[in-house]
Amino acid sequence: MDGPRVTLACSACGHWNRVDPARAAAGPKCGHCGTPLPLDHPIALGDATFARTVDGSDLPVLVDFYADWCGPCTQMAPAVAAVAHAYAGRALVAKLDTDRAPETSARFGIRAIPTVIVFAHGREVARQTGAAPRVVLERLLADALTRAAADAPTRAPGAAPSSAG
Ligand code: ZN
Repeated sequence: MDGPRVTLACSACGHWNRVDPARAAAGPKCGHCGTPLPLDHPIALGDATFARTVDGSDLPVLVDFYADWCGPCTQMAPAVAAVAHAYAGRALVAKLDTDRAPETSARFGIRAIPTVIVFAHGREVARQTGAAPRVVLERLLADALTRAAADAPTRAPGAAPSSAG
């Protein structure tokens, strides 16, 4: 069986790519136009790309719901970027401009920003309302990863990875 994949739309041409997150450091590129698909920066999502990205990613996805005019959002952005860098290959970090994505914001009942939601296999597993420091964001992701590992189907003997990485 293949390892986990994440699903990303190219920011330049809109082509959907299935990307092996283990190759985050190698700088994956769009299979259609060659534009880099950086996994170590927050990925900009909108109403058109949110569901497919979140549902189609095997790794937990942390989404920062923000707006350009929101001071606390701007203050928190560097922490979100730092988490994206720290978790590249283990989780996907994305951001969604709530002004430009009203459908998605309504679907998740976003009433205050910033709001951070962590998704695992398309399901919301954690939510933080209000600005939070990097350590809190990392804890949300770490908890999601721990839970995902616990929920993973038991592997057949001998099928476990030989290296703990
Ligand atoms: Zn492209």
